[in-house]
Amino acid sequence: NNQVVLKHYVTGFPKESDLFLKTATVELKIPHGCNGAVLVKNMYLSCDPYLINHMKKVEGNYADSFTPGSVSFFPLKLQPIVGYGVSRVVDSSNPNFKKGDLIWGITSWEEYTFIKFPGTFCKIQDTEVPLSYYTGILGMPGMTAYAGFYEVCSPRKGETVFISAASGAIGQLVGQFAKLMGCYVVGSAGSKDKVDLLKNKLGFDNAFNYKEEQDLNAALKRYFPDGIDIYFENVGGKMLDAVLLNMRLHGRIAMCGMISQSNLDQPEGVHNLFYLITKRIRMEGFVVNDYYHHYPKFLDIVLPLIKEGKITYIEDIAESLESAPGALIGLFSGRNVGKQVVAVARE
Ligand code: NDP
Repeated sequence: NNQVVLKHYVTGFPKESDLFLKTATVELKIPHGCNGAVLVKNMYLSCDPYLINHMKKVEGNYADSFTPGSVSFFPLKLQPIVGYGVSRVVDSSNPNFKKGDLIWGITSWEEYTFIKFPGTFCKIQDTEVPLSYYTGILGMPGMTAYAGFYEVCSPRKGETVFISAASGAIGQLVGQFAKLMGCYVVGSAGSKDKVDLLKNKLGFDNAFNYKEEQDLNAALKRYFPDGIDIYFENVGGKMLDAVLLNMRLHGRIAMCGMISQSNLDQPEGVHNLFYLITKRIRMEGFVVNDYYHHYPKFLDIVLPLIKEGKITYIEDIAESLESAPGALIGLFSGRNVGKQVVAVARE
């Protein structure tokens, strides 16, 4: 059973060599007396920026961040990385899961995982869409986009929407939700290819490469001469400061993530917060975990949109467990184009 393991706590910018592959021996059946457990074969693993937080030794980080009971062992060295994935049940002593069931939820970065308490897993009912989608558009990132846009941003038809890291797992979906609602949508991304994707494949009204802009404030003024109603924040730092200068009265900012700050020793300061007051802006942080009760409704809305071709989803699939460290670390240099997935086994 090959596993991806944290070598040591990450300091500074993460490197592929912070992780390594190791082989562990596992018995491919449930041990006697483990009633309620399942053994799964992992098929697709989700590379998510939040995993980096759990690879750093930060006081108070782990207990708060992980779901109690399921992954609390994570900080111990020589345990595989733990994250979202799509898996197939290969043995079960749990009446709710049978051999062959497809599930998504928190698993480990290894070929086979023994799960003592599978209660938090979602059973995959619809297999007409690619199974990897349950790590992205139909999994945690999809729910994040949905909750962040519809619940936090309070969008209205005709509003102007700006999204950073717009071609990523979450951003690409927020932009498409906003277009479906009749908003004017602009995204920023870190390469020409990503900008082209946003404009030509994902239906954004416009997009720009933030790495080529000397002055982010001027760039935003170019695309939003009358200001921004909604900002979906994925990156933080200088972009947030520039956005604050360009928000409209009663604008809303959904604080989803601040990836530009995640590997800095000292986070950059935000200088323009005063505009929250003068422009009466609502800026709200949110965590997807608080919104999973919307998941059935979310599936009812999003599955038909996918099947009718009204929503597109771009994935970047790395083949094999060996490629997982590079795929994960690549998120922090923008190597991924779309949702970064690792295919461990396709069936
Ligand atoms: P993405 O698929 O968008 O991948 C990360 C992208 O971030 C990269 O491709 C890169 O795109 C961009 N990026 C990396 N480093 C920087 C940097 N220094 N400055 C600006 N952009 C950078 O990731 P997700 O869609 O999965 O996540 C997006 C955000 O949402 C993250 O901040 C994440 O932490 C957050 N999140 C929040 C959740 C919540 O519940 N609140 C849940 C899940 C995620 P580019 O080439 O365009 O720079």
